[in-house]
Amino acid sequence: MRAFFIIHTLLLSIVLSFNAPAQEVDEELLLKHFHSISSEEIAGWMTELCSPEYNGRLAGTPEYTAAAEWVAGLLHDWGVKPAGDNGSYYQWFDQPYTVVNDAGSLQLHITQKDGGVIVKNYNAPAEYYPGMNSGSGEVTAEVVYVGYGVTAPELNYDDYKGIDAKGKIVLMNRDVPYKDALNPEYSKWVRYCYHQYKVENAALHGAAGMLYIDGNSANPNISYIENMIVCGIGPEPLADIFGGLGKTNTAVTGQIDKSFKPASFPTGKVMTIKANTTRYPEGRTCNVAGIIEGSDPVLKDEVIIVGAHLDAVGNAGGIIVPGGFDNASGVVDIMAAAKALAGSGIKLRRTLLFLFFGGEETGLVGSKFYTANPLFPKEKTIAYINLDMVGNGTGLAVSASASCAGLTGYFKTANEKYIHRPFRASASTVTYYGRPRSDGLVFLADGYRTMDISTTDRVKPVWYHLPGDDETAVTPDIMEDVAKLIYLAIIEMANAGTPGY
Ligand SMILES: [Zn+2]
Repeated sequence: MRAFFIIHTLLLSIVLSFNAPAQEVDEELLLKHFHSISSEEIAGWMTELCSPEYNGRLAGTPEYTAAAEWVAGLLHDWGVKPAGDNGSYYQWFDQPYTVVNDAGSLQLHITQKDGGVIVKNYNAPAEYYPGMNSGSGEVTAEVVYVGYGVTAPELNYDDYKGIDAKGKIVLMNRDVPYKDALNPEYSKWVRYCYHQYKVENAALHGAAGMLYIDGNSANPNISYIENMIVCGIGPEPLADIFGGLGKTNTAVTGQIDKSFKPASFPTGKVMTIKANTTRYPEGRTCNVAGIIEGSDPVLKDEVIIVGAHLDAVGNAGGIIVPGGFDNASGVVDIMAAAKALAGSGIKLRRTLLFLFFGGEETGLVGSKFYTANPLFPKEKTIAYINLDMVGNGTGLAVSASASCAGLTGYFKTANEKYIHRPFRASASTVTYYGRPRSDGLVFLADGYRTMDISTTDRVKPVWYHLPGDDETAVTPDIMEDVAKLIYLAIIEMANAGTPGY
């Protein structure tokens, strides 16, 4: 046995000569605060953030700012220090926004054989969603189908070619005909798959209204154009528009995707879209930033960032989308870890930065603002760890960019030692060329080492950008474990001799 120990010690010292020793943490202290993380408290915070008081937390609105103040107030209470502008918790930036005053209306005018007209009314939110950045007003016009709404001369593709869209309502699909976002070829198409581009291109072609086949859910991530009335539609109005034409949207887009040849046509159907919105072009919003400063005179200059978007998609004219799973879940899990870390008094050699973004749902505005105006130097940032939609499932997953695959080990070890959930660690080996759809991808594109924490094997339905996405859309027990996972892994990562990317 003694010989074994000598060899073991020798091996250990060889390893340690390559890596500065990790700072050991008193396990009793570590476990005391580990056990202080409670699903009841996490569930209470979920309920708070999903409450009608915050009105779906649309970035720019006073209700979002109130939610930001609530988070900052708790960080302050726990001893997490402000890291934002001028000694505050807030990093402010411009965020024009639109308030949808009511759900408006959507009607189809059906001409009878005798020349009479019947009006069919659709219901929100089951059959349509008011455009959340729609201009205010009313349009009655023929619906013109324009495929994907894309004009890309350099790709020899134009959905508006030979089409008169002036004063009409254009009907289009999301995305682009090219589908493989893992192929570099997609780069040529990516600018055309933004919702913003599609409405701007419709306006360029003189359209007065736009019907968007976009999953029939709330979407504030689209450009505002004063005279453009926008509405998102579900299957029922879509079927009526295609009714009697001998084709379906699925068949037509399938043909476009195969041939890369547009198949636009006037539908002969007349509709009315009514929207009642108020635009706030001078809107401002913020990220919330708090730090636990490192204790090591040298390593404290290195920072680990854990972030989640605090904003959600807001209120579509009386239809509140509370943003529970997406993404109060990520926010409150970071809060729980931050509270335990700050309260524990455990010394961390590196600095921790907690970031809660505004404007993710309006186009990743908060994370883009942070990467353009970082609070700590990028080259001193160990990694950015993103949480978006955690807390629905029974397993834990950590994925890392190829640049920091080694960091998944901290999470794996933490789970094996103290949590014991099904666990999946992965590092990406592919490059994504599509439209970035998470704050993590914004950091990755800017050259940060990036990680993503999620939950697997969902046990509840996902109400993505729908009113059902409230505090009941998550399971508090796994949320407790996500917070515990962050708490444990961060302590080890902050105290390691070298990070071990
Ligand atoms: Zn989200």
